[in-house]
Amino acid sequence: MSARKITYTILLLLAVLALVPAGIIHSAGNKELKIVFLNVGQGDAILIEQGEKQILIDGGPDGQVELEELGKYIPFWDRNIEAVIATHPDADHITGLIDVMKNYTVDKVIYTGVSSSSQTYASFENTIKNKNIAELEGKVGMKIKLDGGEMDILYPDGTEDKNNPKDTNLTSVVARLTFGRNSFLFTGDLPTDGEAALLASGQNISAQILKVAHHGSKYATSEAFLAAVKPEEAVVSVGAKNRYGHPAPEVMERLAADKMKIYRTDQQGDIVYDCPSPGQACQAETEM
Ligand SMILES: [Zn+2]
Repeated sequence: MSARKITYTILLLLAVLALVPAGIIHSAGNKELKIVFLNVGQGDAILIEQGEKQILIDGGPDGQVELEELGKYIPFWDRNIEAVIATHPDADHITGLIDVMKNYTVDKVIYTGVSSSSQTYASFENTIKNKNIAELEGKVGMKIKLDGGEMDILYPDGTEDKNNPKDTNLTSVVARLTFGRNSFLFTGDLPTDGEAALLASGQNISAQILKVAHHGSKYATSEAFLAAVKPEEAVVSVGAKNRYGHPAPEVMERLAADKMKIYRTDQQGDIVYDCPSPGQACQAETEM
């Protein structure tokens, strides 16, 4: 081999070797975040996904539907969910979580410990015990780290009567997610009394994207609350023709009066927010 050929061969080899770590660094540095409001009918289920890490807030009213929905966004080879948050013990939020815990390995369940006498809640608790899943109490002060962001739990404040709650909705876990310039507020089924408590706490509850509480019930989403959150976009997770009349026309009018973009799972299916990086704005795409 001539000296020139040897030089070329060495250069080519060096070029290839340089590409390998560059590729590894590139994939490790990809912070892309997806937040999906899953269309689970009358209930809530929100998937937060970053690379191979998933956080699931609630699981909707039907396990089969929930598993099918998750299968659309979690790669088939990834059978682990890092954290599940159960906002409160109502069936339209925790039923699907039972099947999730049976079909995925779940590292930890974050819930308030506020109990319910329902069969569904008993089954939810049994599944956590049987699968030996770590339990953490979701309350104000808890933080979950993301790559380039964070999720802060703002509510409940730990003063509720866990064994005898007067309103399970009032114990809903409320979480604020920030990712660079983007912010989301997840409210569970928190009613107006809870909104007032949150406002009185003085915490920052502002968010560009608001998950409208309690499927758009008229007992939530007060004007005072909206004025503090100042959302630009709102997502209503609700089932078509549900027996509660959700979302309430007065809530929809309040949102429309503030000129925000409104998304509804009953009309648009899954609402998928793609957040390419902390420095870029999250963009919503709808299924229908
Ligand atoms: Zn609900």
